[in-house]
Order: sequence, then structure tokens, then C-alpha cells
Amino acid sequence: MGEPKSCYSFGGGKAEGNKELRNLLGGKGAGLAEMTNLALPVPPGFTISTEACNDFVKNGHKLSPELVSEITESLAKIQRLAGAGFGDPDRPLLLSIRSGARASMPGMMDTVLNVGLNDRNVQGLASWAGNSRFALDCYRRFCAMYGDVVLGIKRTAGGEDPFDAALKHLRNARHIGSDAELTSRDLESLIAQFKAIIRAERGIELPSDPTEQLLSAVSAVFESWDNPRAIAYRKLNGIPSDWGTAVNVQMMVFGNLGDDSATGVAFTRDPATGQNALYGEYLTNAQGEDVVAGIRTPQPISEMAKVFPEAFAALRAARERLERHYRDMQDIEFTVERKNLYVLQCRAGKRSGFASVRIAVDMAEEKLISDREAVLRVEPRALEHVLRPVFDPAAAEQAIAEGRFLARGLPAGPGAACGRAVFTAGDAEAWAARKEPVILIRHETSAEDIRGMNAAVGILTQFGGMTSHAALVARQMGKVAVVGCATAHVDEVNRKVAFLDKEGARVVGEGDWISIDGFAGAVISGPVPTTASEVVRVVINRTLDPESAPIYRRYTQLLKWADQMRRLGIRANADQPDQAADALAFGAEAIGLCRTEHMFFGKGKIGPMREMIVAESAQDRERALEKLLPLQRSDFLGLFRAMRGLPVTIRTLDPPLHEFLPQDETGVAELAAAVGKPVSAIRARIDQLRESNPMLGHRGCRLGISYPEITRMQARAMFEAACDALREGIPVHLEVMIPLVGVKRELDEQSKVVRETAQRVFRERGATVPFKIGTMIEVPAAALTAEELAESADFFSFGTNDLTQTTLALSRDDVGAFLADYIAQGIYEADPFETIERSGVGRLMRIAVEGGRASKPGLQIGICGEHGGDPASIAFCHELGLDYVSCSPYRIPVARLAAAQAAAVE
Ligand code: PEP
Ligand code: MG
Repeated sequence: MGEPKSCYSFGGGKAEGNKELRNLLGGKGAGLAEMTNLALPVPPGFTISTEACNDFVKNGHKLSPELVSEITESLAKIQRLAGAGFGDPDRPLLLSIRSGARASMPGMMDTVLNVGLNDRNVQGLASWAGNSRFALDCYRRFCAMYGDVVLGIKRTAGGEDPFDAALKHLRNARHIGSDAELTSRDLESLIAQFKAIIRAERGIELPSDPTEQLLSAVSAVFESWDNPRAIAYRKLNGIPSDWGTAVNVQMMVFGNLGDDSATGVAFTRDPATGQNALYGEYLTNAQGEDVVAGIRTPQPISEMAKVFPEAFAALRAARERLERHYRDMQDIEFTVERKNLYVLQCRAGKRSGFASVRIAVDMAEEKLISDREAVLRVEPRALEHVLRPVFDPAAAEQAIAEGRFLARGLPAGPGAACGRAVFTAGDAEAWAARKEPVILIRHETSAEDIRGMNAAVGILTQFGGMTSHAALVARQMGKVAVVGCATAHVDEVNRKVAFLDKEGARVVGEGDWISIDGFAGAVISGPVPTTASEVVRVVINRTLDPESAPIYRRYTQLLKWADQMRRLGIRANADQPDQAADALAFGAEAIGLCRTEHMFFGKGKIGPMREMIVAESAQDRERALEKLLPLQRSDFLGLFRAMRGLPVTIRTLDPPLHEFLPQDETGVAELAAAVGKPVSAIRARIDQLRESNPMLGHRGCRLGISYPEITRMQARAMFEAACDALREGIPVHLEVMIPLVGVKRELDEQSKVVRETAQRVFRERGATVPFKIGTMIEVPAAALTAEELAESADFFSFGTNDLTQTTLALSRDDVGAFLADYIAQGIYEADPFETIERSGVGRLMRIAVEGGRASKPGLQIGICGEHGGDPASIAFCHELGLDYVSCSPYRIPVARLAAAQAAAVE
């Protein structure tokens, strides 16, 4: 037995629900109840709870008799408030039946409008409206929606929705461009055709009994919780499948009664930029679905002030009330029926990363929310948007000068993207799987395109407005998007798009390069290089004055508040001085990992490294090491200079050999020449070094164990650089880190080499530099023996890339072949190389922390695997009591915010 009550009424200024009942009533239902209680003009209705949805599924996908009788009772209340009767031939009440889950899933589930119409009462509706065309328009929409949603008559593979096809056919035959031009006779003919489609496809008549229509529409909306696109969306957004959807049954109000009616969507602030101004769009003489489905491109909301002054004033008043009440940016759906405003929905508005940062900071500065709330409001990954690239302005100008400008659409998702054109969601996924950046180009995106949108770097559509589902979903995914590009004629079947202008048509086909600008809406043929974002230009490139950088101002303010809240330290993985400088600019407090082998990726440096690897005798190796010493020393000095006394963690060499050996003949020949040996000898040596499993091969501290002279050279380079820095007056805080340790003896042996070298260098230089020696924890044995290891270690740092590899026995280099299957089947909730897998890897980390600190209380412990920049993993590191996370420079802002949020939930 579930909750005894399933239906919650609202209307006439009173509601049985409120915003606290979101889990039960879904976001939309809770919002309708709350808005009714706030005395906003909400048409009466009732919400059927999410529990009823789960009961429906359990009950063999049937509505229980108890629910049916509650629906009947609730319907009676609507009729009383509306002064209209459901099925009444003279004054028929029409209903909208809409889904509404706990978490917003825009456009993923179904809706049926104009429920209650039939051949007997359509005339009554026409008389009430004084407009028979309107009544027929409602009826034909109802027939198509009922056929589609309730009876499941959908578009066939590769074909068209039959209702749409009939409509298009009629429009073409009559040479008319928009539905508004359809005459009563056209509509009558469509209704007859739609009924015939239903008869042909399903062998039944469209039901005329309003109650049957209502109950089957409610069932269909419940069913839509489990349609494939809703399932895909839930997976992408981590929404549990047992939440269920509520169903909202509400009196219809009409935006399509004539030119004094309209329908629209408004945001209380700009969802792309976050600017504090009413933002949105509307369509005159239209129904709500027309705006979100993006079939007609709407008018900006500012126009409404002139055309519908009273309704516009009411909308502004609603905006004020809703923002003050919810203390967040709201997305409002509204209808104007004969100049009167009705609010049909409000919810926290989806927004771009820019808008998210700006709105949170502005609201805190307006004292609508606290600084702490502002920090909690911004999804850490939103900061990635703020750092996203834009077109290099010079290159974009040049592309335009070259005549490559193709069209302009609406800038729906900020950022600039460039990729190969694809025309179906499936193609987007297939090309992306081949590591090709793709721009998904669609007529209008339907929610079914979600997986393709996810795979694409950018989205371009012919139809749709800023509030179309394509735009909302793209923004939330952080995708660059340009929508409503009217001069783009998309031909999805033949996989091409023709951009029409005065000069004719320019065609972009599958695989051609195309660039889109989600800030300005421009579409450009060919590739356009991208350039740094505003924040990056201020912080990193220093080419922009902070005073003229509004996004930067909010970004720094937000992170300032975040820094006051977080406990975790933030370090950077940086191997070069310029990376260290970037890291500092983004707010790093130290270097948590310098991979010394990466220093040799630089031009002209790989040679001596390869010479060292292929050396067959100690003498050859010493010769190569002598060449490496000055290179390493100057790199280390560069890091010390950049960091000016902040901790610098330098790891001894850890090169999986296969990453460093020459792969081609030229490389082999160069190496042979450098060491003065025949090519055949080098080839033989490379063959000899080849490992079956290099990730578990001769790498990490094992190299230093076999060849202590390598560690000795590296330690010498570190300490000489440290002494040089001191002589320049630069303080040094050095932490030497030994990789891939599994047993304590490995650490002890390597520490001994490092300490002896330090003493030697200090004696030679007549100076000393304080330093620590620690170990990475990236092998299960290290985690399990942490108590012992800590006796020899000044610090631990989790190398979770290898720890994941070694704990789950997943090769870092080979997971591509099967990981997607594991994630699709839910065997792993997320990619374990992105988010720490808690039950195995996480458990070992906990053991290591407890063991390490048991033997050495206060032992410094951090993380330097890629997980150090992942918000969910950062929360886990906080929970484990780590001292810091270390990540790549561009993820530092995300890490600072995620660390603050982790601290706030304690
Ligand atoms: C790790 O394994 O997590 C790590 C930081 O080391 P690398 O990625 O260099 O193996
Ligand atoms: Mg490692």
C-alpha cells in the first residue's frame, strides 16, 4: 500500500502541495503549488504523485481504481474553479497532461494538450472562443498528440512522423509557409486525415470519451518515464530510475486564441551571460509547445512590452516575486490568454557556466543569498566553461574576409568550436569514437539526439529559439551551440547543409570542417583556430585588463569565497616553468607532481633521454646522464624560480619505456648517430628492451633500483638547482618523491641514494637546503603496508592513475576497448580513471591513510593522479582527510571550488 493520497489540487489561491513536496510532486508540480500559494495567476489543476507512477508500474502498468476515483474527485474541483465542464458540449473544459520529475529532464518525457475535445464539443469551444478556426486548431493538435504520445504512432526509422508528414503535405499543396495560415477547412481536413492515420495504424477510432482520453493520457505520461531518451538522459545526469515522474493535470489556457494571445518562456536573468535582466521569448497566437519545440523562431521578450503591456507588467511582477521567493534564477513558462497572463511553470533555470558564476556572485552581492550559498550554487565544472576557448579574433576576421562566413543563428551555448560536420546523432557518436571533433548539424534537435549532442563539440540547428530544448540541453552539457540558423537548409537524409544567401547556396557535407561561435551565433566554413577565454586572457596571457573583464571579476570573487571555506590544499601537476606559472595564476599553492620524464618531451631533449635508456654499459649510461644533468638542473631551477619558496614535489624518473623509445626509422637512425653505433645495434637493443606489459615493467623506482646512477643524477640536478636558487635569493621547499614503490626496501634504497647525493652536493656547494623524501602510493602493496612505509616516508601522495590500474587490473592503455560497455551496463558507475572507484581503490586509499598516520601522526598525504581535478573524487579526498589535491593547471579553479563544497557539506 502506497501513500493513501495520490492527487494534490491547486487553484483559486490555495494548493495542497508546496515546494517542500518536490520528491512527491516533481519539480513542476511543486512549483505549480508554490506559485499558487504565492498568489501568482496559475490555472487550476492537480498533480498525481511520483509514488503513483511507481505504483502504476508495479500494478502492471494500470491505473488503480483508487487513483481513478481520486482523479475524478480532483477533476470536479477544477471544473468548479474553471466554471467549465469536462466534456461539456457548450463550455468544454480542456486539460493539459504534463510530466514532471523530481529533477528537471527538459523535453525527455511526454505531454498531451487539449484533452477533453471531441466531435460533439468542438463547436462549443468555437462558440466560447468566438473563433472556429481556433477550436479546430486545438482539435487537430489533440488528435496528433494523442496519436503520437498515447497510441505511440511515431516517426518510422529514417522517415517522418505521419502527422507531421500530412501537415507538411497540406502546406505544400496550399503553398503556405506557416501553420497560422491554415484555414478552418484545412484544419477540418487535417483532423479527418489524423483520425484516418490512427485508424490505419492502430485499427481503432480516436476515443471521444473525455474521461477515457484523460486516463489514457495520464498512463502514457507515466509510461514516458521509461522511454529510451528519458533513460539516456537519466544515465547522463545520474538520475535514479526509481524516482518516477509526477503527472500534472491542469486547465488549458490558450495562447492561440488570436493576436491578443501568446505563449512564451522567460528567464529571470539571462541564462547565457547571467545578466540581471528579464530574458526570454514569446510567440503570438501559439501554444506552449511551439516555443520549446523550436518550430517557429520567436520574438524577444522586450517586444512584449509594446504588444502586451499589461501582461508584460504582470510578468515582471511575477519575476520579482519568484526571484525573491526562490532566491535563484527561475525559468518561467507563461501564456497570455486574451491579454491576461497565466504562469504555467517555474523552475530553477538551466544556465551556462558563465551565467552560473555571474548569477551566484551577483545574488550574493545583492544579498539575496549568502557568500557560502553562492559557492555551493555553482557546479564546479561550470568553471571549465569560464575557461573555455573562443575564436582567435584575428583568425575569425580573416575567415570572414575570405568569404567563409556562412550564416548567423542564435548563440545558445557559449564558447567556440570547430569540427567535422555530421548530420545524425549516430554519426556524431561514431566519428567521436574515432577521436574526430564533430559539429552535429540538425534540422531541429529532438530530445532523441542527446547522445549525439554529448559526443559532439558543438551543435548547429536550423530551427529553434534560445529556449528550445536543444539550447537548454546544450547549455547544461556545456556544449557550444548555435540554434535557429534560418538560412541553413539541413538535409539530414543526404547528410549535407546548404547555406543560402544572395549569392546562392554553399554546401557543407559530412566530414567537412565547420566552425561555430556560440557567443555571437556565427557559422563559418572550414576550421577557425580558437583562443583563450576572458579569464585566461587576464590570468594567464595578461593581455586583458581585469577592469574590463566582467566574467573574470565574478570568477575571482567566487573563488575567494571558496578559498575561505576549503580545508584541502590545492597543488598543481606541472613539469615546466610556464606550466607552474599558469598553475600559480589559477591559484595553486604548490607543485604536487613534477613528472621529470616529461621534461624530455621538449624539443632537443628526447635524444639524451633515449641514449640513457638504450645504454648497455654503465659507462654509456654515465655519458648520457652527463648530458641530462644540465638539462634537468635548469628545468628544476626554472620551477624553483616560478614557485618562489612554495613546495615543489619532484618525482624521480618513471618512464614506461615504450613511451620514450623511438617508434620510427628516423628516430632509430638519429639515436644510432648520437651514440655512434650501427642502426642494427640500436634496433636490437630496442627489441631487447621491448616489454609485454610496460605499465608493469621496468619503470618507476625499479629503474633507480637497477641503475642507481639515474637517481643519483636526478638528485644531483635537484640539489644543485636548489643551491643555485638559494644563491639567487629564492627560497626552496623541495619534496622528492619516489614512484611505484611496493615494498619499504625500495623506498629505503632510493632514499639512501637521494640523501647521500644531497650531502655530497651540500658539501661541494657549502650550502644546505631542507628537503623531504616521500613516496607515491600507487600499488596495492604500498597501501596495505602503509604503516611500515610511513616509517621511511616524510609524505605520501596517491598516484591514483596507477592505483586504479593496479587495483582493478585495468590497463591504463587498453581500457578503451571495453570500458564503455562497463559504464553502459552500470558495472562501473563512472570511468574509474576519471572518478575514484570507491569500493576497491577508495578502500585501499583509506587503509593507506589510516596506516600511514598510525605510524606517523600528522603525515602529509595528498593525491596527484588525474582524480585530483575531479569534483567527486575531491569530495572523497576531503572525506579521507588528505592534506591536498594536485591537478593540471586548468583544473585548479574547479578543484578550489569542489574542495570548498566538500568542506561545506560536513
Ligand atoms: C599516477 O599514477 O596517478 C601518477 C600520478 O603517475 P603517472 O600518471 O605519471 O603514472
Ligand atoms: Mg603513476
